[in-house]
Amino acid sequence: MKLHEYQAREIFARYGVPLPRGELAHTSQEAYDIASRLGVPVMVKAQVLVGGRGKAGGIRSASNPQAAREMASHILEMSIKGLPVRKVLVVEAVEIEKELYLGMVVDRALCAPVMIASSEGGVEIEEVARTMPERMAKITVDPFLSLRDYQARQLALEIGLGRETVAEWIVIAQGLYKAFMECDASLAEINPLALTREGRLVAIDTKMVLDDNALFRHRDWGALRDLTEEEPREREAREQGLSYVKLEGEIGCLVNGAGLAMATMDVIKLYGGEPANFLDVGGGARAEQVAVALRILVSDENVKAVLINIFGGITRCDEVARGILEALRQIQVEVPMVVRLAGTNEEEGRRLLADADIETASTLIEAAQRAVETARGS
Ligand code: GDP
Ligand code: MN
Repeated sequence: MKLHEYQAREIFARYGVPLPRGELAHTSQEAYDIASRLGVPVMVKAQVLVGGRGKAGGIRSASNPQAAREMASHILEMSIKGLPVRKVLVVEAVEIEKELYLGMVVDRALCAPVMIASSEGGVEIEEVARTMPERMAKITVDPFLSLRDYQARQLALEIGLGRETVAEWIVIAQGLYKAFMECDASLAEINPLALTREGRLVAIDTKMVLDDNALFRHRDWGALRDLTEEEPREREAREQGLSYVKLEGEIGCLVNGAGLAMATMDVIKLYGGEPANFLDVGGGARAEQVAVALRILVSDENVKAVLINIFGGITRCDEVARGILEALRQIQVEVPMVVRLAGTNEEEGRRLLADADIETASTLIEAAQRAVETARGS
């Protein structure tokens, strides 16, 4: 789950990261009021769940409340990368001497959290990482020892930070690390971390991605989720306890188990098709869940054929077949569909489907070939 800048700010503030003062506005009038309260030049910042807002014109400066109102009304009319802007953050503008970068990520290859710093922060950081990787300093953190001050100090030295700023840098690095770990984040980032004219450090832009797998131990995350910014099908699937990820292809896949989902996508690609999604109904899927899953799948207009691949272990194939039949009573499936059932009660499952004139395949290869073929035809 991605957080908005204003949400990440609230979290970072609790961990002692210095931030410019500011508040969230939903209307241009609120932006005017906030700018008046702050009483200084401000930045008006689009709150959307994508990066590159600055380049898209979603970050504007305003020297007085009237200008803040105008900027806010302009930004609130915008869409950035297809996402309509519904709120803006109004914060005091900072005089920036230099833009630094400081971030925490999980490095999957190292199987460890990694802190990354750069003297070349700002909107071109991806470009810097690509063309000047030597400007990105990195340290691996042992989660059992946690971030040590000397490690943060080493990063500061590597990016050429002045001695007088190092103590403040360490506080920020420790705060970022703690926020990242305690929130079960997969990313926590300050970009830019501004070095001001007065030699202070301030987090100008904050970003955080929380790991949905840790949802069960963060009951308060429900309030953070911005339902207006989610893909509606992904939301419905999540509410129904299904794992659904929309992809770009044309073959809708309904599968039980993440491993089987990946194998199914591989086989589809092997035979020249492209999966339209990853949909895992999980183990022990009941008929109603299968019906919901199928409805979600066919509501995607890119789907030209549906491949249902079920391995019956705890999940019973006859139960899945009933789910498919139930779904077909509720919704009109206009695209061809092929079902492969293997395992517990497969004969019963196949018989139910055959009685309803639904095509079945006995192997995954056969099913994938059929799906690719019929997707092309339809
Ligand atoms: P992003 O484009 O979504 O990453 O949004 P940011 O909040 O990082 O803003 C983009 C750029 O706008 C920053 O890299 C800064 O150069 C500039 N910017 C943002 N806030 C301020 C500010 O308070 N003062 C100054 N001088 N520049 C700012
Ligand atoms: Mn930024």
